[in-house]
Amino acid sequence: MNLADSELILGQLARSGYWRTDDPSAADLILVNTCAIREHAEERIHARLGQLTSRKLVRPDLRIGVTGCLAQHARERLLDSAPLLDFVIGPDAYRRLPEIVHGGPCVDVRLDRDEDYADIAPQRSVGVRAWITVMRGCNRFCAFCVVPYVRGRERSLPADAVIEQVQAAATQGFREVVFLGQTVNAYRHDKIDFGELLRRTNRVDGILRIRFTSPHPCDMTESVIDAMAECSKVCPHLHLPVQSGSTTVLERMGRGHSADEYVRLVEKLRANIPALAISTDLIVGFPGEKAEDFAATLDLVRTVRFDHAFMFKYSRREHTRAAKWAETVAEAEKGERLQELIGLQEHIGAEINAQLVGSEVEVLVEGVARRRNGDWAGKTPQFKTAVLSADHIAPGDLVTARIEKTTAHTLIASAI
Ligand code: SAH
Ligand code: SF4
Repeated sequence: MNLADSELILGQLARSGYWRTDDPSAADLILVNTCAIREHAEERIHARLGQLTSRKLVRPDLRIGVTGCLAQHARERLLDSAPLLDFVIGPDAYRRLPEIVHGGPCVDVRLDRDEDYADIAPQRSVGVRAWITVMRGCNRFCAFCVVPYVRGRERSLPADAVIEQVQAAATQGFREVVFLGQTVNAYRHDKIDFGELLRRTNRVDGILRIRFTSPHPCDMTESVIDAMAECSKVCPHLHLPVQSGSTTVLERMGRGHSADEYVRLVEKLRANIPALAISTDLIVGFPGEKAEDFAATLDLVRTVRFDHAFMFKYSRREHTRAAKWAETVAEAEKGERLQELIGLQEHIGAEINAQLVGSEVEVLVEGVARRRNGDWAGKTPQFKTAVLSADHIAPGDLVTARIEKTTAHTLIASAI
């Protein structure tokens, strides 16, 4: 989501003659786009800002600004720790960037119920995959989460504006689009829901694959499930965050569903969408999480058998409802629970991948593999990373390959 916002900011600044450089010492303007979701992200920004603002001692004309969720969340702390900052701009104020970068010091963190930036063309980095924001903000207010406070209320872009971006991406050579939103499947503009948006996108020539993240279990309607099943370009992969396997914890989190309802939803999805891969997000150590609640999370992970999971220690965020609740799980205990959960998930992920040895997959090639010299890397429809040995291929190619070996996270394949 931050990557997509950075491309939006570049698009807006391009209107007043700025363009991107990869060399910080050549930059007239440096923007640090930030994330506030967990404390760890915040700690890193403070150190980074110290380094960047020290450049102003040799380049007094250099302008440095902070954008994104942390600007919204921690503007006082940012200005205290980096007094040389020129501006702090929240996620709904990017339209004003051209005037702000030319003006004096400025803080603009007002949220706006309607700002959707639908008229600003993002300046995307060339590649295979285009990230397209289709809705902004969130109305769910899960007890642990800062997003509704830093990104404001939910709003969807007009479907025409989304489809225009998809078409533009296809023209620029992108092969895959990923729709983004905090509860992306709650997308609705006029009478068009997320299922209909997928159907319309499926008809755009040049785009081979459609993905989206993150859908909320409560917004997984028949319309969305049907569209996933019917549209050939919509990939059989869902990143469906569950957070916990304990219904007591889920209730306190305010997620809107029980553990059982989640498991039944997964069954229904698997019955309707062949070869569906499912990944998730999990939090350990939420206030009040007892040993039996954590055991329920392990149970759910064993029942569902996720292809992949992002697993986090609970991190207390100011303003949220849970911030007022006592932290009952000690830091060391959180760490132990996280390690146990990761161990279980790694084992399941490796087992699922091992069963794929010998089968054929279609890999959308993205670039050269990071570790294996001369090999290519790409994704399967299930969003698994495949490393390929093959000649005469290029990013953007769809290659049929046979899987030879697997690890918990990677498929090793050769082109057929
Ligand atoms: N909108 C998405 C989640 C976006 S945040 C959804 O509802 O599914 C991405 C992930 O960060 C969350 O799914 C959650 O697992 C994790 N997360 C968010 N706030 C957190 C916190 N305070 N502590 C630990 N993990 C958190
Ligand atoms: Fe945060 Fe919940 Fe909204 Fe996701 S749905 S962004 S976890 S408040």
